[in-house]
Amino acid sequence: MKPEIIETPSQAKETRHVDGVLFRCHDCQTVKPVQTKGGTGYALYTEPGGECLVCYDCADKRQTAELLTSDRFTGYVSGDGRSLTTWTEGRLGSVSLGSRHPWSRDRFYLRAYDVHGQAWHGTGAPGMWCNLRKCKPVTR
Ligand SMILES: [Zn+2]
Repeated sequence: MKPEIIETPSQAKETRHVDGVLFRCHDCQTVKPVQTKGGTGYALYTEPGGECLVCYDCADKRQTAELLTSDRFTGYVSGDGRSLTTWTEGRLGSVSLGSRHPWSRDRFYLRAYDVHGQAWHGTGAPGMWCNLRKCKPVTR
């Protein structure tokens, strides 16, 4: 049996993700194996030409680039509460936790500095999602 290579989201939906199944990344064109446990190995993105499959490495690059153009960002705080990461654990910057959120006891105020040196603020918790807003440059 020749190895199956998933090229489109509709093929991805029809193909059972078992060992030996491959996919092609839209961005880097690399053929990689799908993951069979706890994830697919790729992310789905909507492009002008339709949906496409992007490998985790390229998904991290896309999110790193998104930090420069977005004022709001949803990221992930590492389990030790020190790093801002993508959902695939790509490093996006550093986080420092502040005080506990008054209404949501398991969340904290936090500050983050991304890999581009930009400052963000928001709420989140170690090992959980955080919602961030970009800090406005202070002019006096
Ligand atoms: Zn890729």
